Amino acid sequence: MHNKTIAELAAGLRAGEFSSEELTQAYLDRIERLDASLNSFITVTADAALQAARAADARLARGDAAPLTGIPIAHKDIFCTKGVRTSCGSRMLDNFIAPYNATVAEKLAAAGAVMLGKTNMDEFAMGSSNETSFYGPVCNPWNTGTVPGGSSGGSAAAVAAHLTPAATGTDTGGSIRQPAALCGITGLKPTYGRVSRYGMIAFASSLDQGGPMARSAEDAALMLAAMAGFDPKDSTSVDQPVPDYSRALNDSVEGLKIGLPKEFFDQGLDSGVARVIEAAVDEFKKLGAEVCEVSLPNSGLSVPTYYVVAPAECSSNLSRFDGVRFGYRCENPVDLEDLYKRSRGEGFGAEVKRRIMIGTYALSAGYYDAYYLKAQQIRRLISDDFRQAFERVDVIVGPTTPTPAFKLGEKFNDPVTMYLSDIFTIACNLAGLPGMSVPAGFVNGLPVGLQIIGNYFAEDRLLNVAHRYQQVTDWHQRQPSGYE
Ligand code: GLN
Repeated sequence: MHNKTIAELAAGLRAGEFSSEELTQAYLDRIERLDASLNSFITVTADAALQAARAADARLARGDAAPLTGIPIAHKDIFCTKGVRTSCGSRMLDNFIAPYNATVAEKLAAAGAVMLGKTNMDEFAMGSSNETSFYGPVCNPWNTGTVPGGSSGGSAAAVAAHLTPAATGTDTGGSIRQPAALCGITGLKPTYGRVSRYGMIAFASSLDQGGPMARSAEDAALMLAAMAGFDPKDSTSVDQPVPDYSRALNDSVEGLKIGLPKEFFDQGLDSGVARVIEAAVDEFKKLGAEVCEVSLPNSGLSVPTYYVVAPAECSSNLSRFDGVRFGYRCENPVDLEDLYKRSRGEGFGAEVKRRIMIGTYALSAGYYDAYYLKAQQIRRLISDDFRQAFERVDVIVGPTTPTPAFKLGEKFNDPVTMYLSDIFTIACNLAGLPGMSVPAGFVNGLPVGLQIIGNYFAEDRLLNVAHRYQQVTDWHQRQPSGYE
């Protein structure tokens, strides 16, 4: 059962080949047996999952099942889930039981999905390797000595190891696409505003976006259909109808105009990764796509721009964790200032503190114009680059990451090198555009992701392009040994 796609599982449930309870139990058994080697889950909600599965079985028996009824999924532990610990990978929220559901959790539950538990992640989604988590690093199932990527590393590893058919993730600078690439799965970061951020713990509010992580574009389409849509509780949510993402999957890509940004193929790109991407581009040519070069001249500025904007926003968002109303509180504070200082000092990890300090500095009077304002201006230039490129092409294609998965510990003490693993993903977030990563090959036994970037609200096009690619390749069907 655990090797079936969501579409196959949904058909099996409807045909009565197995019940949701059996399916859910099978995944819970796999988590129990295999997750000790990965650490991809922070919390497993076995009893609630089985209860939800039985309710799904009743719904299936009544014949009023929704598309995901009875399908197990996992949530990144950044989404608030009512009555369930929602830690955001931090000691700060280790004791936090969310009193309400994130809209994404609410919508997936309404679509019938059964939550298996909450997945591990970098602390407050700050990281590219899942090593900043208070709950310890996650291992990549393709080689447990390497990182799964981050910050949605737990979701990516769990999907890759078939501990769940699909999971949610969030992407502020690449945290869906980069771990999807490193773990050999399919991940989609939607257009900013497509998926509600309500109840999704904020990191950098102008960049954060939730999206699906799954084993195929077809499954990602089913997940996104359930997650997307206007939400009056999120003022940046866009009131635009949600297309039927599954309907366009099989559209022809003949005549599709693909742009290859020349800046993505410059030095810094691993030669093995470059070969994989070139082979993927050849597949698209065989499918009738037209390929040309495009330029994103300001893309080299995306990492430094991001590391002003994201820390600035995080320093403001994380000011709410003060030890007073919820979350970690230090022991025996002598006065209010001591309570603030020690609660934050003990509750946050080193990377989160680094970001808060950078952000506070960048926003301070006298520095605001030099840093934050300047970063916002460059952000506009980066968006303009994409706008011009999309006048000529339908989608932009390139590598998701410059290298395959790196070793655990390899970059942990070198933040700048770590930050550069998002060099190809960050521009998308700064511009608010949708982007996807799909498995496209291997280098030294480790998966490589192909990134597909589309124009605003072109998720249907991205899924279509990815699906056509997955019909003529089988990279997305490969499985890490030991997790078959
Ligand atoms: N790795 C990037 C960071 O550390 C992006 C994280 C994310 O997308 N949440 O900020």
